[in-house]
Amino acid sequence: MALKKRYVIVILLIALISISYSQRGAILLTVLPNALTSLMSTNGIDDLGDGLHVGLCGAGGPMPSGNRSGPCVAVIAGGKLFLVDTGTNGARNINRMGLRTDAVEGVFLTHFHSDHIDGLGETAMLRWMGGNYTEPMPVYGPKGVAEVVDGFNQAYSSDAIYRTAHHGSAVASPASSGMTAVTFEIPQDNTSLMIYDKDDLNVEMIRVDHAPIAPAVAYLFTYKGRTALVSGDTIKSSNIEKFSQGIDLLVHEALSPQLLQMMSTGAENANAVSRAKIFHDVLDYHTSPVEAAEIARDANVGHLLYYHVVPPLDVPGMDAIWLDGVNDVFSSYTLGQDGTLFTLPINSNKIVRVQLKIEN
Ligand SMILES: [Zn+2]
Ligand SMILES: [Zn+2]
Repeated sequence: MALKKRYVIVILLIALISISYSQRGAILLTVLPNALTSLMSTNGIDDLGDGLHVGLCGAGGPMPSGNRSGPCVAVIAGGKLFLVDTGTNGARNINRMGLRTDAVEGVFLTHFHSDHIDGLGETAMLRWMGGNYTEPMPVYGPKGVAEVVDGFNQAYSSDAIYRTAHHGSAVASPASSGMTAVTFEIPQDNTSLMIYDKDDLNVEMIRVDHAPIAPAVAYLFTYKGRTALVSGDTIKSSNIEKFSQGIDLLVHEALSPQLLQMMSTGAENANAVSRAKIFHDVLDYHTSPVEAAEIARDANVGHLLYYHVVPPLDVPGMDAIWLDGVNDVFSSYTLGQDGTLFTLPINSNKIVRVQLKIEN
């Protein structure tokens, strides 16, 4: 008898779930209006509290990966959001992280490899359309940034005209469309250049070595005593080590020589000559995971966040190969993914990590 009762309850539950599922559209229609109003009025920045916050809107490199988009680092301080580089999907991931693309105050470019700049046009367009700005989006960088910005502005010039014509200049003002380049002379080794100093946030530009690609720079962010450095692309750099001394968070690129060598050999065996050469060539201008850990150890940083993770680690077990030897050098690290967010609260030495869920 008891068994029969249980059977009836299970049937009823299944029926209830089926009805709810078949009525999901009608149910959603009743809650959606309020949910949308709440969504449109929230700004994730306000929820973060006073501190220096660093999130990965793109944790990968140039190759496609399930949970690591093109290089993009969100830096939030004093209620303002900046990006370091704008790789593929960066602008969209900003939204997926609960932040607003129209809140992007400006972009710092580390160098002009395509994977670091390919989302620039969309970032500027989404900021322009959603924001209420009187000036174009500033893009800070070393010499060459003006050519990149001019090119994107030209490519998006028809789009800008369409949007102003369609939405009116009160919403899509021609005065604030596109971007403005802010160019700096790259500093010599052992010196840094203060390129932004406003509302308690300092940003310093630091030379790195990504030869034969030049210029290439890192950025050091300081806000009310908390510090984070974003490496950009570089070999193991004594300059990074110097400017990372005692900082809270080192966000460093890394490439696994072991995996790239295997990929190069695999391409060679498949007679994919160009790919074999590219996989081999990239070995000489990046930092290995162990080398980045050595910098973190020698500079005594609070935590190391790996980004620009190359190659993609989409097959289970590849992460173990990628991290081989890291634990012997430095244990306070995170292998970043899209949505990894660090909070460094002011008046504290806490380093708080959360992994935001990013649905691709
Ligand atoms: Zn890169
Ligand atoms: Zn590069």
